[in-house]
Amino acid sequence: MDQVSGGKAARYWHVLTDGRIQCDVCPRYCKLHEGQRGLCFVRARQGERMVLTTYGRSSGFCVDPIEKKPLNHFLPGTPVLSFGTAGCNLTCKFCQNWDISKAETFDRVQDLASPAAIAEAAVQSGCRSVAFTYNDPVIFLEYAVDVAQACRARGIKTVAVSAGYISPEPRAEFFRHMDAANIDLKGFTEGFYKNLCSAKLAPVLETLEYLKHETDVWFEITTLLIPGENDSAAEIEAASAWIMEHLGPDVPLHFTAFHPDWKLRDIAPTPPQTLRRAREIAMKAGLRYVYTGNVHDPAGQATHCHACDAVLIGRDWYDITAWNLSADGRCGNCGARCHGVFASEAGQWGGRRRPLTLAEPQPVVS
Ligand code: SF4
Repeated sequence: MDQVSGGKAARYWHVLTDGRIQCDVCPRYCKLHEGQRGLCFVRARQGERMVLTTYGRSSGFCVDPIEKKPLNHFLPGTPVLSFGTAGCNLTCKFCQNWDISKAETFDRVQDLASPAAIAEAAVQSGCRSVAFTYNDPVIFLEYAVDVAQACRARGIKTVAVSAGYISPEPRAEFFRHMDAANIDLKGFTEGFYKNLCSAKLAPVLETLEYLKHETDVWFEITTLLIPGENDSAAEIEAASAWIMEHLGPDVPLHFTAFHPDWKLRDIAPTPPQTLRRAREIAMKAGLRYVYTGNVHDPAGQATHCHACDAVLIGRDWYDITAWNLSADGRCGNCGARCHGVFASEAGQWGGRRRPLTLAEPQPVVS
């Protein structure tokens, strides 16, 4: 923690009887003396108030396939304008974006980006949505909400890629402005969250239940399977059973492959067989849409009709190879409903990844 100056007035905090200020955005509830920053590093005490130090500052923009977030049931095949800031409220030892999430200087956040400029860039680059990704948008809530409002005014949807580690009151505000989310369910034991993320599982499960029962946000779940840490059959069975019971069979679940990174460099990458086995376990539990990710596995990335098993959407990495859905998301073979947000046809963005400079939005070449 260090001295801080500048920043935008932050919401969700209160003064404690001992004079410290408590941030109420996430379940860490950091208690700060003058000049200190929270664990996320970007929310800080400045005098008698809290500020967000990364408002309007980005670590870079890129047009990605929506499937990369990953979202398989939200406007498939379309491009999404992705960006993040710096910092994170979890301390995952396996972080795959640690250069951004652990940034404690603003070397990574030099792009100045107003909400209106981001919405304009999305329109100009042919994106259907803007994704808050690379680091957790919960910690830059005020900025994310303003960007989301600017996007909605321009007909652009918004996507939160988040660990769901957020307290109830800010959670309600944050998700009120989102159209879709991918929530990282990092493991399914309190021990995993405690030992590898210095966090708790219960608040994440609360966020998932909140999204399902209190909002219209389309959401999918991702679990990064780390060999020996969270990939046991028992843990995957328990997670799948919980999802079935609390969220129902229609929430898509992605099992993605770990690559050695950050502080977990002595663990081997996830074998594709582990992902396939996890998918089988989750589908056996009753989940209808379970996917493998970060590996070449067209069979594990296709969407099947839950009623007649026809292939509704074929995928090869981020390319859409088959499309058999009506505009209202019904199977072209039997008419059964596939849950999600669909258009009458798939987008054609494919697997391209195009970095973008905000001042000069690039026209889409499709
Ligand atoms: S958002 Fe940041 S400052 Fe606030 S409680 Fe969480 S880690 Fe601490």
